[in-house]
Amino acid sequence: MASDRLKNRKAIVTGAGSGIGAATAVRLRADGAQVFTADVQGDVDFTADLTALDANARLVEQAVAAMGGLDTLVPCAGISAFHPLEGHDDAYFRRVMEVNLVAVFRLVRNAVPHLKAAGNGRIVTIGSTTSSHGDEGLSAYSASKHAVLGFTKSVAAELGPFGVTVNCVQPGAIATAMTAPAFAQMPEFRTFWENKAPLRRLGQPEDIADVIAFLCSDDARFMSGHGVWVDGGAMVRH
Ligand code: NAP
Repeated sequence: MASDRLKNRKAIVTGAGSGIGAATAVRLRADGAQVFTADVQGDVDFTADLTALDANARLVEQAVAAMGGLDTLVPCAGISAFHPLEGHDDAYFRRVMEVNLVAVFRLVRNAVPHLKAAGNGRIVTIGSTTSSHGDEGLSAYSASKHAVLGFTKSVAAELGPFGVTVNCVQPGAIATAMTAPAFAQMPEFRTFWENKAPLRRLGQPEDIADVIAFLCSDDARFMSGHGVWVDGGAMVRH
């Protein structure tokens, strides 16, 4: 339910042209935040490939100018595809790391002065169940998402003294453009995830956005450095 709990927040949400990022921008705005959106595609405030060397610096600069400050980051942009190890080329492995990890690092680094100045900054990174587990064909993705969780913990340690909380949401299987091709090609994969979750369904982008909004709010003020599973309970079952 919408509220005014984020009414003084000034947030950047990346990956906001689709899926979880788009739902997050809607939810943060519904809770009163100003939101500056970025993506490589879609209806956003800043359009760029966020792996470009200067993209995140420009994004922070434009967001601060547009909102009059910056205290919240939600880097949602990400890519994933199944690639068995044999035939898995260096270029794709590097690309996954650049999008899912290095671009997140650059966004956070460039925003640090603003987050420190805010005194109550919030960073919510997006990991995955594969931040803690592995899966066939997902070596690059899982490596990048383990790294995002580790990055989150260290940033929490470094920025905590400045009042910044840093947490990592770990979604289960969510119905978005990212998962649609795999679910279409492998219906048994979709059924597996629906049955694995005790709640017996795939997640929707809003299921993740609502938890992100909570982590951005004052209600989560004493929570930092954690991975938060939002998976319908899927990962409690073997
Ligand atoms: P999505 O619907 O595909 O949204 C991701 C967005 O990020 C897309 O608009 C995508 O654009 C954009 N993007 C990709 N590379 C980019 C780049 N270099 N620069 C700027 N934007 C870029 O996927 P989603 O499911 O919402 O995923 C959001 C986040 O949740 C990702 O980090 C993903 O790893 C994570 N996640 C998703 C699931 C799931 O089941 N869906 C589960 C766990 C974690 P293009 O479409 O053009 O690539």
